[in-house]
Amino acid sequence: MDYVEITVPCPECDGFGTVESQRPVGNSEGKDYYITEIECEECFGSGEDTKGNFYNSLKEAKEDYPNAISTRVIR
Ligand SMILES: [Zn+2]
Repeated sequence: MDYVEITVPCPECDGFGTVESQRPVGNSEGKDYYITEIECEECFGSGEDTKGNFYNSLKEAKEDYPNAISTRVIR
């Protein structure tokens, strides 16, 4: 068994590292909120989510995570 570290795009922000947040504002321009981008709380702005798991081979890990940014064996 190999311990494989898998890095996938953060599901919360789709890998952007930021998420849109609605902030209320005064109603002066006919809208009551504006959209601002804040750092993603899930990945702390990195846009990546890293997890680890045991696999028989690196190939199995890649099959489990076809959208992975990187997969590497930790020794
Ligand atoms: Zn994120």
